[in-house]
Amino acid sequence: MATNEELAELLFPEITETIEDLEKRYPKRDLPEGAQVTRFAPSPTGFLHTGSLFTSMISYVIAKQSGGIFYFRLEDTDTKRTIEGSGNDLIDQLHAFGIDHDEGYYPTGDKGAYGPYQQSARRDIYKTVIKELIRRGRAYPDFCTPEDLDAIRATQEANKVLPGYYGVYARDRNLTVDERIEKIKAGTPWVIRYRSNGDHDKKTKFVDAIRGEIELQDNDVDVVILKSDGLPTYHFAHVVDDHFMRTTIISRGEEWIPSTPIHLDMFRALDWKAPKYAHIPSIMKLDHGNKRKLSKRKDPEAAVSYFLDQGFDPNALLVYLMSIANSNFEEWCIANKSFDFNKFQFSLKKMSLDGALFDLDKLNYFAKEIVAKMPAEEVLAKTKAWAEKYDAAFYERITSNEEYFGKILNIEKNRPNPRKDYAKWSDIERLTHYFYEPLWNEILDKGLPFNEKFEKSLVKEMLVDLADNMAYGVDEQTWFASVKEIAAKHNFAISNKEYKANPTAFAGSLSDSAEFIRVALTGTNQSPNLHEIMDILGDDVVKSRLKLSAERL
Ligand code: GLU
Repeated sequence: MATNEELAELLFPEITETIEDLEKRYPKRDLPEGAQVTRFAPSPTGFLHTGSLFTSMISYVIAKQSGGIFYFRLEDTDTKRTIEGSGNDLIDQLHAFGIDHDEGYYPTGDKGAYGPYQQSARRDIYKTVIKELIRRGRAYPDFCTPEDLDAIRATQEANKVLPGYYGVYARDRNLTVDERIEKIKAGTPWVIRYRSNGDHDKKTKFVDAIRGEIELQDNDVDVVILKSDGLPTYHFAHVVDDHFMRTTIISRGEEWIPSTPIHLDMFRALDWKAPKYAHIPSIMKLDHGNKRKLSKRKDPEAAVSYFLDQGFDPNALLVYLMSIANSNFEEWCIANKSFDFNKFQFSLKKMSLDGALFDLDKLNYFAKEIVAKMPAEEVLAKTKAWAEKYDAAFYERITSNEEYFGKILNIEKNRPNPRKDYAKWSDIERLTHYFYEPLWNEILDKGLPFNEKFEKSLVKEMLVDLADNMAYGVDEQTWFASVKEIAAKHNFAISNKEYKANPTAFAGSLSDSAEFIRVALTGTNQSPNLHEIMDILGDDVVKSRLKLSAERL
């Protein structure tokens, strides 16, 4: 009778190392007490999902705040789903958010002593562990064809039992070693399955770092651990990698909760101490009254590139995500007058468990606060960098006269309550058209939105009078006094109180008359401080716009 040892040798003759060798090559990390080793382990199957950014941010923060290591592992074992180059894109996008890893896979080569950090380059490591599991009788080659598996599934359906390769349905589980050797020698294709000792009627318990104790049905399925292409499945690969990369907290999406018993079972079979698991809640969306996961196909905001394209400061999205992660974060921001989430003490235990609803209004709120606090020079540099990549015409406008653009950004900026109407760089583009003559002409051609309750002739007279007689090149107060005088001449109430007491006695209020100037100069009835705008436009432009808009009425 042949032994498991012989079977292992027949299957993997090229593997000469042992688990002990790997233990030596990847020793325990020399880190201070409490330092956590976390990772982000995406599959290169497309763009960076907003939920993945959420997970990676949390892993990053846990490592940073504990003085540990955050590393990146590329899980590229599902070759059918792999999209060429997407691993590198993921790294670029994380970098745009400042989530840079200390160690791990880089397009230019790995960094760190626990690699390779790309699963497809770790075949021999997986095989070394599998060879040992075979020796111990805890893994076996399975010779079922896809048709055999279909037949098993059909029987299970007929018997109304759970699908899967387990118990009496695990056809090749109980073959003798001799039978296996014979089939291998005959060239029968095989995969390797893990031999579960679990009992489906029993429960398995584990403590999740976010959710506390979780109790689930024990796993009794003999899952595939090595596919026919020589690559491992996720279940097995992450167990091996997180062990040898010395991860201390596996923070991953909550969709992995149901398979955790499989993973814990494997850690036990290998006599390895399992890291802690923290299952991160999914980000949800309200769709016709129902909560559902943000979907790659349906929601543009499911891809982080959406926020970058729109010109959100990456930090704004992270701050928003942190407010979802720990609900006390927003309070902390207000109390500390800071949006630097790195200074906030994040806690896995305080993490909310209900999948948070993605709330664009809330993101806009944080984004506006962040841009308002940002020095004008930084806003300029970031807007310029964004425009260079995403909006050529805007970039051209900025660079044709950067000093002028800087002045525009300085409007209502250096004061205790700075303006808060820019959430993203594309808002700056949209809200600054009127500072540029060609764009202002387009606004004029479309027709200016003067308040229709006023006779056109009155608006016209006022505009001409203002153009000719208001004070130019003076401070705000003096200028406004001259506006008041002209308004009074045209029977606009200069006292709000008097106007309110008897509105019909006047042509309109003082703010109505100021609005004429605003509309004539900016093409909107909402703008920041008019005097600052006039200062930037210059007297000649102001005068000519007042006149031109009167002519067009
Ligand atoms: N590659 C897996 C995924 O993208 C990783 C899960 C994990 O972090 O362990 O879902």
